Amino acid sequence: MEDEIRDNCGVFGIISRGPCVYDIFNGMDFIQHRGQEYCGIATYDGKIHQVTHHGKAGVSFTAQDLEYLKGNQGIGHVSLWERQPMSWQSRVGDISLAFSGNIINADELIGDLKRQGHSFYRSYNIEVIAKIIMESDDILSGLCNLAERIRGAYALVILSAEGIYAARDVYGFRPLILGKDAGRTAVCSESRAIVNLEMDIIRDVKPGEIVLINDQGVQSLKQLPSPRKAYCAFEWAYTASIDSVMDGLYVQEARNNLGRSLARRDREEGGLEADLVAPVPMSGIGHAVGYHQESGLPYQEVFLYNRYADRSYTQSTQDARKKMAKRKLSILKYAVEGKRILICDDSIVRGTQILYKVRDLKEAGAREVHVRIACPPLMYPCDFGISTRSYDELAARHFFRSGDIDSLDKLRELERWVADQIGADSVKYNGTAAFVAALGLPREDLCLKCFDGVIPVSG
Ligand code: SF4
Repeated sequence: MEDEIRDNCGVFGIISRGPCVYDIFNGMDFIQHRGQEYCGIATYDGKIHQVTHHGKAGVSFTAQDLEYLKGNQGIGHVSLWERQPMSWQSRVGDISLAFSGNIINADELIGDLKRQGHSFYRSYNIEVIAKIIMESDDILSGLCNLAERIRGAYALVILSAEGIYAARDVYGFRPLILGKDAGRTAVCSESRAIVNLEMDIIRDVKPGEIVLINDQGVQSLKQLPSPRKAYCAFEWAYTASIDSVMDGLYVQEARNNLGRSLARRDREEGGLEADLVAPVPMSGIGHAVGYHQESGLPYQEVFLYNRYADRSYTQSTQDARKKMAKRKLSILKYAVEGKRILICDDSIVRGTQILYKVRDLKEAGAREVHVRIACPPLMYPCDFGISTRSYDELAARHFFRSGDIDSLDKLRELERWVADQIGADSVKYNGTAAFVAALGLPREDLCLKCFDGVIPVSG
């Protein structure tokens, strides 16, 4: 397994005055970072056309595919786990469905649905969602039933004869954003696709909201009661692209503030003598810029990111992972030799990647390497659609087998252990309180389960 967080998936939907397939194709390209294993498009022109592939959208769809995907409305999906969209003919009409998230009680629901006579292709989460919707008289009541029966996270799009339905679970774990211009209305997991397709952002779909997009624009059909918000805090620290904005907070602003928070901690703890601050590309960039802004340390790249290195297949051995890490990031020796370097990254999962980076910098002549991590230590796997690995793979878990890192003393103890493991001169994380303060959102509106173990979903 690679030593990195792997995203789950992203959705896109659009209704246009003209053929929509190129907008969907390009929209998927703008959210490709959310999942690189599978991609798929469904369009509607009186009937549903669907094509899915194993691989990235930009290299998987052929000219013939795009020619075949006719219609002025459609949806797209990029994924780590499975082929979507999936399509059905049902009592609610012909539908095609794509979603981002994870259903915690999927096994229980599959058991119930099988007892009622339903059958499944592979027992995917998406099949559970579709069967619950298709049991109802119409899509809207199906989406209301879904929200009542499901424990977990979803942001979904449904292509139908009436238009595109879009819905977000009542906690709002996964983002979903609406946009438009004179001839098109769109919905997407990330605002960057909307902006880069030259549309204006309208607003976020609210937690528990069900909307219908058709040639009249966006209609809010239903607002289900939301017991609390649980926006995935990790979206701002790592998952989302730095040029996106979600639920009122720019990703870039959040990452800069997380870097600033790390710099403030260093200052409060007596300051750190270093020559430069550098990011671990790509997701460490915003954090390193924030550290530089707060500390005044010169910002300097020490890694060159190889945009052509393929991360789409799993590396099975330690040696293969090491080689892949080297292919992805090469060292800029000129900036490194003889320097005391502070590097910023988003998180530490297994710890092997950061170990290679520290070792490579030292082998290239760095005098000192200090590591600053924007997220608190990852202590728990994610249940809501981001692959943050199992308990045994999480480095912090090897030190603290149980319990929360709820004090600065415990955090410091862990940091000394991690520094020792990876050969760094020092390691510091943002503690959970500092992390939340840097995001600037109320703690009760965030999911922080992978850091504090608190499951925000009731039931
Ligand atoms: S557990 Fe972590 S990664 Fe998963 S939704 Fe919550 S904050 Fe996000």
